[in-house]
Amino acid sequence: MSGSVDSERGIVKSSYILGWRNVPIGSMLEKKIEAPVLVYNDVDSFAVTHYTIGRAKDYRNCIFITVGSGVGGAMILEGKLYTGKGGAGEVGHVTVVHDGRKCSCGSRGCLEAEISFNAMVNRIQRKTSMDPLRVHFRATTEDEAIRYIHEAMRVDQATVTSVFDEVGTLLGIAIKNVINIFAPDYLLIGGEALAFKEFFLEKAVSVARKNAFGDLGDDVVIDVDDMGEVAWVQGVVLNLIEREVFQIEGRSVYEV
Ligand SMILES: [Zn+2]
Repeated sequence: MSGSVDSERGIVKSSYILGWRNVPIGSMLEKKIEAPVLVYNDVDSFAVTHYTIGRAKDYRNCIFITVGSGVGGAMILEGKLYTGKGGAGEVGHVTVVHDGRKCSCGSRGCLEAEISFNAMVNRIQRKTSMDPLRVHFRATTEDEAIRYIHEAMRVDQATVTSVFDEVGTLLGIAIKNVINIFAPDYLLIGGEALAFKEFFLEKAVSVARKNAFGDLGDDVVIDVDDMGEVAWVQGVVLNLIEREVFQIEGRSVYEV
């Protein structure tokens, strides 16, 4: 599930993307399907997948940032998934623009409000002079947003390139801030927006490395997800198999 999740009680405490607050989705689903249900944050699961079977497994301190219809984050610190009191790692809601775009969380200028798919679409709509691209449109699925951006590229590549330059800069600022706070060994960028990675990623990485404190930006390995969709659910499953079937506790990163 997206948002802040209480895995122990099977509750989504707050998900702005879903518009949920304190929804006991675990017990609701259990009644329907008559089987035990475990509820986890989707980006946490994504992180655990990469830490268990991906390239992140070679590192102890890893940060994961996903960009798509929302912007998510998760952290493995000293080999454990770090969730704080629940909901830690919400990189999507760090402020990157003072008094910027209104965010679903109620704040302004959050990374998610500035660079999610709908923010990208909105930036193109505002900037372009091409009428077909200016029609009011808000993507309800990631595929719709991807289609719009592809079409925009065909019709007005200059505008799209400049929008992605802004997106790369803002993502780079957020990555720099995260690097300064956690000094991670490894940072992975994932999410559906990687469909356009050649237009914003280089900028994001260079802004982050150039502006990070001291040599923190030089030392961190910055990687790109190549597992795709499956990584979002695999982490939970891998962890459950390790814990419940093989009863391995050593590398278990979920503490439920
Ligand atoms: Zn926000």
